[in-house]
Amino acid sequence: MSLLDVRVLGDPILRQETTPVAAVTDAVRRLVDDMFETMYAAKGIGLAAPQVGRLERVAVIDVGEREPFAIINPEVVLAEGSIKGEEGCLSIPEVYGDVERASRVVVRALDRDGKPMEIDATEILSRCLQHEIDHLHGKLFIDYLGTFRRRSALAKWAKEREKYPGNMRKLSPAEVASHH
Ligand code: ZN
Repeated sequence: MSLLDVRVLGDPILRQETTPVAAVTDAVRRLVDDMFETMYAAKGIGLAAPQVGRLERVAVIDVGEREPFAIINPEVVLAEGSIKGEEGCLSIPEVYGDVERASRVVVRALDRDGKPMEIDATEILSRCLQHEIDHLHGKLFIDYLGTFRRRSALAKWAKEREKYPGNMRKLSPAEVASHH
């Protein structure tokens, strides 16, 4: 496995539409495994392919309440209710905001073995699924913020951004070591 660089806000790939995975091959599984390693190194609970510079429709999730899993070609087949909650993003470090999401979603996807699966989620898992699936369609959590909150989030980001030349967030071995 290898650690991937995380793309941060400003990299155009974060706004691109992904391409559905035609077949879950070893190459796709390698991407999934590298994404897990990268997500853990960055201490995140979810990571989508565009965040590591890739356009396969793939995301990985580990919110700690069930086994970590990958979602390949995910689709939201049911969304109901609505609830506000704070979100952050590995691609916009140090920026947080309250986002209104469906309180429950049912998602269909392929797993790491290419088998169809369905997840019925509420609470943090529901929020994480919606956040990651948004990434696969070029959408970011800051898009949901109202004008004022969005402006202050972007002002904060304007300072943070200087830490990431070329819109790249390089995870250091120290960050990896501290995780294990
Ligand atoms: Zn994110």
